[in-house]
Amino acid sequence: MVPLVTGVCLAGAGVMAHGVRGRSSQLFGPSVWRGDSRRKAIALSFDDGPSESTPSFVEALRQHSVPATFFQCGANVRRLPDIAREVKAAGHEIGNHSDSHPLCSFRSANFIHQDFARAQRTFEDTLGITPSLMRAPFGVRWFGYPRMQEALGLMGVMWTVIGLDWKLPAADICERVLKAARNGAIICLHDGRGVATRPDATASLEAVKRILPALLERGYHFETITQILCPAT
Ligand SMILES: [Zn+2]
Repeated sequence: MVPLVTGVCLAGAGVMAHGVRGRSSQLFGPSVWRGDSRRKAIALSFDDGPSESTPSFVEALRQHSVPATFFQCGANVRRLPDIAREVKAAGHEIGNHSDSHPLCSFRSANFIHQDFARAQRTFEDTLGITPSLMRAPFGVRWFGYPRMQEALGLMGVMWTVIGLDWKLPAADICERVLKAARNGAIICLHDGRGVATRPDATASLEAVKRILPALLERGYHFETITQILCPAT
């Protein structure tokens, strides 16, 4: 028999794990993970850019006239400012994915605030925009998130399905995403790998090239995350 106190602790640990990584958790700040299930719309999002591969993703999206949301890291924007500008010029939405892509568990509230604030300044200086959406690196939120989000005016965005595209081949990424695709879904893929220089995003790009026509064929249309959360009509 499990002693009562152990059971309570286990339950507590479960709540904590959900709070840190759970896509629907509000424990560490306001967060969304899907749009309206009554609308046949899907939001495609990309994390960890801009990278040297990002222009190929922008081109794949352009071929299907599809908008997306790019959660970029401030350090990557400073390294590749012209590519960041290209993403914005193509009409895509840009969100804050931190500055240095740190794992924020056990980090101080001040550290978390400073990292996201530095990225916000980079978006303002380089792109002339102040993002209103953010995604936590590794999907891990922590105690400093609510204060940081409130101070910087950032809504947290998780996902309905994540492609695991940093480790799966293109065929498996497609299978995961297409199986989970539904009305209002927010799809998370990656056009970079953290703040790595010249990351290999081949599998992600190949998956995007297959996923886009497959979902358009099913009758979905694509929106930015702001559009899918706040439909105009
Ligand atoms: Zn990331």
